[in-house]
Amino acid sequence: MSTETDVRHHFRTCHLCEAICGVEIRLRGNEILSVRGDPDDPFSRGHICPKALGLKDVHEDPDRLRHPVRRTAGGWQRIGWDEAIDEVAERVVAIQAAHGNDAVALYLGNPTVHSYSALLSSVVLSRALRTRNRYSATSVDQLPHHLASLLMFGHQFLLPIPDIDRTDFLLVLGANPVASNGSLMTAPDVAHRLKAIRGRGGRIVVVDPRRSETAALADRHLFIRPGSDALLLFAMLNVLFEERSFAPGRLQPWIDGIEAVEQLAARFPPEAVSEATSIPAAEIRTLAREFASARSAACHGRIGTSTQSFGGLCQWLIQVLHVMTGNLDRPGGAMFTAPAFDLVARTQGTSQAGHFARRRTRVRGLPEFSGEFPVATLAEEMDTPGPGQVRALITSAGNPVLSTPNGARLERALGSLEFMASVDFYINETTRHANIILPPTFALERDHYDLIFHLLAIRNTVKYSLPLYDPAPDTRHDWQILQGIAARLAVHDPGRRPRLVDRLRARLLTPKRLLALGLRFGPRGAGWTPFGKGLTLARLARLPHGQDLGALEPCLPERLGPNVRIQLAPAPFVADVDRLAREMSHSMTGPAMRLIGRRDLRSNNSWMHNSQRLVKGPRRCTLLMHPADAARLGINDGTRVSVRSRAGAIAVDAQLSEEIMPGVVSLPHGWGHDRPGTRQAVASAHPGASINDLTDELVVDAVSGNAAFSGVPVTVESMTS
Ligand code: SF4
Repeated sequence: MSTETDVRHHFRTCHLCEAICGVEIRLRGNEILSVRGDPDDPFSRGHICPKALGLKDVHEDPDRLRHPVRRTAGGWQRIGWDEAIDEVAERVVAIQAAHGNDAVALYLGNPTVHSYSALLSSVVLSRALRTRNRYSATSVDQLPHHLASLLMFGHQFLLPIPDIDRTDFLLVLGANPVASNGSLMTAPDVAHRLKAIRGRGGRIVVVDPRRSETAALADRHLFIRPGSDALLLFAMLNVLFEERSFAPGRLQPWIDGIEAVEQLAARFPPEAVSEATSIPAAEIRTLAREFASARSAACHGRIGTSTQSFGGLCQWLIQVLHVMTGNLDRPGGAMFTAPAFDLVARTQGTSQAGHFARRRTRVRGLPEFSGEFPVATLAEEMDTPGPGQVRALITSAGNPVLSTPNGARLERALGSLEFMASVDFYINETTRHANIILPPTFALERDHYDLIFHLLAIRNTVKYSLPLYDPAPDTRHDWQILQGIAARLAVHDPGRRPRLVDRLRARLLTPKRLLALGLRFGPRGAGWTPFGKGLTLARLARLPHGQDLGALEPCLPERLGPNVRIQLAPAPFVADVDRLAREMSHSMTGPAMRLIGRRDLRSNNSWMHNSQRLVKGPRRCTLLMHPADAARLGINDGTRVSVRSRAGAIAVDAQLSEEIMPGVVSLPHGWGHDRPGTRQAVASAHPGASINDLTDELVVDAVSGNAAFSGVPVTVESMTS
């Protein structure tokens, strides 16, 4: 009989989403007994969501690969690490020698950002590959945010974070933090934080084509036609300028371009945008006045405003709204973090601060951002013949067949590649096309630090988690695989052999040492003083619950960097305003149904659907539609319907609800596990349909090239008639 004394307690950060909740894992021997919220984590204060148990499920998942495999005519064959890495490097070098460096592409999936070691090592592999064809999940998500920050504040990571713990007025635009747990706004237990806004007399307004879980906590919800958010934002600014109620406050001396924005906003009075947005002009005027007159106000515009054809304009105008109402860099407004590992300070003034449109994609001519091309172009770069055609691909921690627009076209293109390798522990809809799969250890076998999410948090906090388990024998961490491939490339191509100093640096500066240096020489670090009070990795390791470093503090203009001013009217955004005006009077009010995505608390993109406890229960991959639309089309609740777009067609069950705006339908993303050849038994038994078999790779945000998932024109028909 075992007793409580047999039980060990391990404290760490849950890395499964952006909320970075503290968890307490109870173990007996190596068996995980429970995963609970850690009440002593000063940031998450004991909160977790149902996905936290996914830590146990993924760790124990029998479908998770532990060893490299090679695809053969007879199935997947286990091979050794050295053989696998050597084969990847050899094939890459051979293909690049025959067709040029750009013939090999690299794709980094979303989980990369949740592993500091993968994040730092992917840079090493990316350099060693010497290809311009680099892609990531950024361009199906938050690219417009980075572009707005780069063009307005001079750094891609200088992202304003809504100060929701102190704000008096929160405008939520195309975001559902109650389901997503906050995104580009790391805010564990966000539902309680939102309730607290109203509890202290503040107000929340949600503008969304769906009356979401977040809208249920708000004072007011307004339906908006998908893709028209930029019109709403311009109209709010129009009201501020017309009524002379703007007040940039202390930042005014550092702002350029106010007059240019005023001229642009004059084109969009509320009455002119009302039909396209479906919001009455009086409501827009009220919203603008409420925002401007609140003691403090912040706008949280997320996925619905980023992943649409005016994503760049939306993220730009949200920041213009903050600036013109004096809410940028003000408590309760939109503020900047001061993380212990400060990526902004470390890279200010370098090319890593970000760059844009230095080159363009071969086929469609879309711009690069910070060395990456929009992933909506990846399939055409593979299936369009000509010099520079992509003939091989390396993916790391991603499933772009399910997560990028027109996944079916990408899937066909993957099937035509000469070679593909994936760093992943699942044989999923994408990696099944790989010739070699190299599975890294899971997070519980690694240490953990959030390089990115401390940067995006609503408070300054810091936390480092030790590994729970030793890695199993004959396994490798993500960074060992990524750097291993990079090193092996040099063996097969002596021309890539790094200089001695670079070889030494690579050997000495492991990701963990880089993390330690970044903390020691960061703004709160011990620096050169060994006995000082500053932060070091060793000290942080003795604080298993993490440490609160205080509320966000005003930091402008100093944080902008030398000679940087706030640019209120960056040329690329200004140049896109005519397109917005044209679309206002044409496509936004057309007869087609518009498809939007939706987020589910128990789901995280595509990769947690192999956990039985997270997929059980009522079917969640349903097409939400308004009863009035359903009645017009002869559709009942539960009717099997066909949904068609320019890109493709799927079949799903309809779910009728007045929470969705008439004329709009909604599907969750990350589903579509019915492709053959995967090895995820639970996911295959709960396949759903992929929204990205409908989304259109040819429709992107014209400025940034980010995928436009929101507002896809579709037709819906009953399959039972
Ligand atoms: S919200 Fe859930 S998935 Fe996200 S960090 Fe917290 S426990 Fe993990």
